[in-house]
Amino acid sequence: MKLFYPEIFEKFICTGSQCSDNCCMTDWDIEIDDGTYGFYKKLDNDIGRKFLNSVTEEDGVKYLVHCDGKCPMLNEKGLCSVQLAYGEENISDICREHPRFYEWFGDYKEAGVGLACEEAVRMYLSDAEPVRFFTKEINEEPDDLEFDPELLEIMLFARKAFIDLLQNREFSLHDRLTNVLSAAAEIQAALDDEDIEDIRPIAEELYDPEIIAERAKSLEKAVPEKPLAAAENMLFYLEHLDFIGDTLPLQIKDASRFVKKLSAPVKAQAGGEYEKLAVYFVYRYFLKAVRDFDLLSKIKAMLVFVFAAEVINVSREQDTAARFETVKELCKEIEYSGDNMDRIYDDSYLSDCFSDAAMLALLKWSN
Ligand code: SF4
Repeated sequence: MKLFYPEIFEKFICTGSQCSDNCCMTDWDIEIDDGTYGFYKKLDNDIGRKFLNSVTEEDGVKYLVHCDGKCPMLNEKGLCSVQLAYGEENISDICREHPRFYEWFGDYKEAGVGLACEEAVRMYLSDAEPVRFFTKEINEEPDDLEFDPELLEIMLFARKAFIDLLQNREFSLHDRLTNVLSAAAEIQAALDDEDIEDIRPIAEELYDPEIIAERAKSLEKAVPEKPLAAAENMLFYLEHLDFIGDTLPLQIKDASRFVKKLSAPVKAQAGGEYEKLAVYFVYRYFLKAVRDFDLLSKIKAMLVFVFAAEVINVSREQDTAARFETVKELCKEIEYSGDNMDRIYDDSYLSDCFSDAAMLALLKWSN
């Protein structure tokens, strides 16, 4: 089987006790795989009983529910009592792998490292170079979940074109993002009409400098007269998502107050970190469209994350450490919340905040 992964995947090491926002100390519910559940069900001791008493089930999926902001299996020293007693091989897949993520298509597998982890964000964003990807053979049985291999091949080509453009620093980040948005809308139309042979030519255009420049120029005309209104509306929308902590909602509120006072778009910040954030989302979510045929909502969500990171950074004049913290919070509170992401994906088709004109305006809050 082939494994495709960005460089950080092999380099990432959890900082454990040095971590200031340990993932075992959040209000997350942790999905428990059947193997782990079965192991603890057979145990006739306090650890087994505590584990099973902390598990809840929703739609056939079992979750270990965190209590008072931390995993119930942590001992008084903050260490995992399950791992101490039975070894890493007997903790749940998610606990062992977090923040790594995987995607399978038959005998092709992808891996990456999620940014809801401060160390992952630090490693990923402090590397100023474009993201480097690698392939290697691994010894693993093919996955049996169905997919269309022809569509996968086309979407792999298209995603590469998206990422290559996002990492092409000859164009402004604004022009790269507007082209990506426009191409995603065209690919979505092809997916909706089941014209998958149209996708490759759309992606190929992302390698043509003239088309990129021309498209960015012509999309300028579609930006509403008051682009800051779109930024205000999006921040109002984000304020009303569900949060587990206080940090991000406060930052969004402050950003909202900041934007309300602006009379003209602010000067854009250097785009290296935002480029990498965009690449992270495109790499992680683009191929999901092979199974759910929905690309546009994922690209719009990516644009919202990039916008939110920038507007919070600018409004608070954040230094590097604070900017990294904001990215981690955005991913922890929004990207890693199924409810929030479902809302964003649905609203990307239903809400005026996510209309094509609003998304283009969102990219013009700074210039
Ligand atoms: S958030 Fe990241 S660095 Fe911190 S404990 Fe979890 S995996 Fe380790």
